[in-house]
Amino acid sequence: MTEYLRIDAIHKQFGATPVLKDVNLTIFKGEMVCFLGPSGCGKTTLLRIIAGLETQSAGTIAQAGKDISNLPPMLRDYGIVFQSYALFPNLTVADNVAYGLTNRKAGRAVIRQRVAELLTLVGLPDSGAKHPGQLSGGQQQRIALARALATSPGLLLLDEPLSALDARVRVRLRQEIRQLQQRLGVTTIMVTHDQEEALSMADRIVVMNHGVIEQIGTPSEIYREPATPFVADFVGKANMLPATVRDDGAIQVGDIGLQCVRGRNALTSGARVSLFLRPEDFVVRGVDAQAGNTLRGRIEKMEFLGAFCRVSVQVDGLAGTELLADLSYHDMTEFGLQQGSPLNLAVLGDRVRIFGEDQRRVQ
Ligand code: ATP
Repeated sequence: MTEYLRIDAIHKQFGATPVLKDVNLTIFKGEMVCFLGPSGCGKTTLLRIIAGLETQSAGTIAQAGKDISNLPPMLRDYGIVFQSYALFPNLTVADNVAYGLTNRKAGRAVIRQRVAELLTLVGLPDSGAKHPGQLSGGQQQRIALARALATSPGLLLLDEPLSALDARVRVRLRQEIRQLQQRLGVTTIMVTHDQEEALSMADRIVVMNHGVIEQIGTPSEIYREPATPFVADFVGKANMLPATVRDDGAIQVGDIGLQCVRGRNALTSGARVSLFLRPEDFVVRGVDAQAGNTLRGRIEKMEFLGAFCRVSVQVDGLAGTELLADLSYHDMTEFGLQQGSPLNLAVLGDRVRIFGEDQRRVQ
């Protein structure tokens, strides 16, 4: 993998307020990276600093081995797409796409051919003579993408490009953008607050919170091996149970002892920890089963979600704590489960993740 973009110790303050704190990140050539985080975590500011639209308070950025930290936007090598399309309404679609090429004083014939190529690439070969106002939101965003790619930039920056679109168009466009990105092999950074978008599109996800990077990882690492309770909770659904490490190495949750520590690790007796389990991590057992490592409770609420049923379970011995469990249709029918049913949920040690008091994952 070739290093393409290197972000070193970036800090940013607006007045006295720090919004990015010591951000370090390396992005490789051809990668698609998503910046994911809640509103206000600093992801757009970081993207804008990479674009030169905002100036960092400290730190450096290198692109393709060249320090670009202080270059103005027009001397940087990127194309950008914004949430709001930002097409020029008075120009035709063809002129919008040609914009960067015209600025670079490319010849007319070259421009015409490149525009035709790009419009075909984004699936709108016959739209050149139209004006943006005559296109749907999804079509306008495709044109914005064509415009961003016109000069064959080394880096493609996407700032919440799908947020303004309706759900069906979003899903289709996210597949299209990902396919296009892979076909062109263009290094891409996309800002999003939509976890599904990030999980489905990215090679790697950068999860941000309060101006710091909480974790950098592949979608499955972020989902299955979250580095912090914040990541566990922000991406997907999480059950988080406060617990204590017992002398015998078991984990005490309320009145229940669970064997879920794998091997010998840094857990010391008496340490306070949090157990993390996804709703799909439980295994349903019959109510008469005597197997250990089982949480026994009652189904309080059920939500039918098509492929599975999400149930809230009031667990005995957990002082009112409700757990979320995703049960398959087969579980529901095999065990005859409905609201109010008793339910036994086995906890498999290898599915449990454990966070220490310092918020770092210890298993
Ligand atoms: P969102 O998804 O809501 O855009 P974000 O994660 O992209 O959120 P940023 O837009 O980067 O967050 O903003 C980070 C913080 O910096 C916010 O608290 C925001 O209010 C603040 N901020 C952003 N731009 C400016 C500015 N020009 N002047 C002052 N504060 C700003």
